[in-house]
Amino acid sequence: MADPRPKCRLDTGVIQRRAEPSDTADMAGAAIALIFAAWMAGVIVLLKCVGSVWRGDRVRWLPMIGLWMSGPRVNNRSFPAWAVSIFWFWTASCLLAVEAVDREGALRVAVGLCGLVWLVTFPLWLIVNALNRPRFLVPPGRRREKGSWPRRRAGLAPTDHPVEILDVRPATGDPKPYPPYFVAVCTNDDCDWMSDVVDQDGSDAETAVQAQARDHSDVLIGTRRPVG
Ligand SMILES: [Zn+2]
Repeated sequence: MADPRPKCRLDTGVIQRRAEPSDTADMAGAAIALIFAAWMAGVIVLLKCVGSVWRGDRVRWLPMIGLWMSGPRVNNRSFPAWAVSIFWFWTASCLLAVEAVDREGALRVAVGLCGLVWLVTFPLWLIVNALNRPRFLVPPGRRREKGSWPRRRAGLAPTDHPVEILDVRPATGDPKPYPPYFVAVCTNDDCDWMSDVVDQDGSDAETAVQAQARDHSDVLIGTRRPVG
């Protein structure tokens, strides 16, 4: 029986051509260049932010939530210390990516070393939060501040941030009136702390908000009516 397949096949040589060693090397080279560019971009962003924090400028996304909601945060005081450790984490990650492309055994040792430096430097930001030490890692404008531990030992609230109590009630003629409430708001640019919102339906509503504010700070700057 005759073979039903056509005698003449399409020339698929271009598709079937095996990747030659020089192609593989080119692709690996391009991937490594890309990883290096990503590493460089990360380092530039870190340096830029450390520069801003060091000069005392406001960095929009600080403070960052820490490992746990109410725990230590990466703030304007502890950002440089955090950046030191995160630099090593980023370097280890990028080296790991290069190792995956290049299969260079020696890189594994470098990844391990960078990872180790990361682990050793990671607690630095916790120490800066707690003790404001080592001084050389704290931005110059914030070196006189106390860490959270000495404040706690002295029986002080965790911060001396000025906290304002807001007496919020709908403006006269508000088409959608809402029940008036009190809320305490921290005015420190290093902090986004707020108390719970307490409806003004009881006589002790303001006292309740003041008590929450005192758990956060020793400095209360009075009550203000932002609307109306
Ligand atoms: Zn605060």
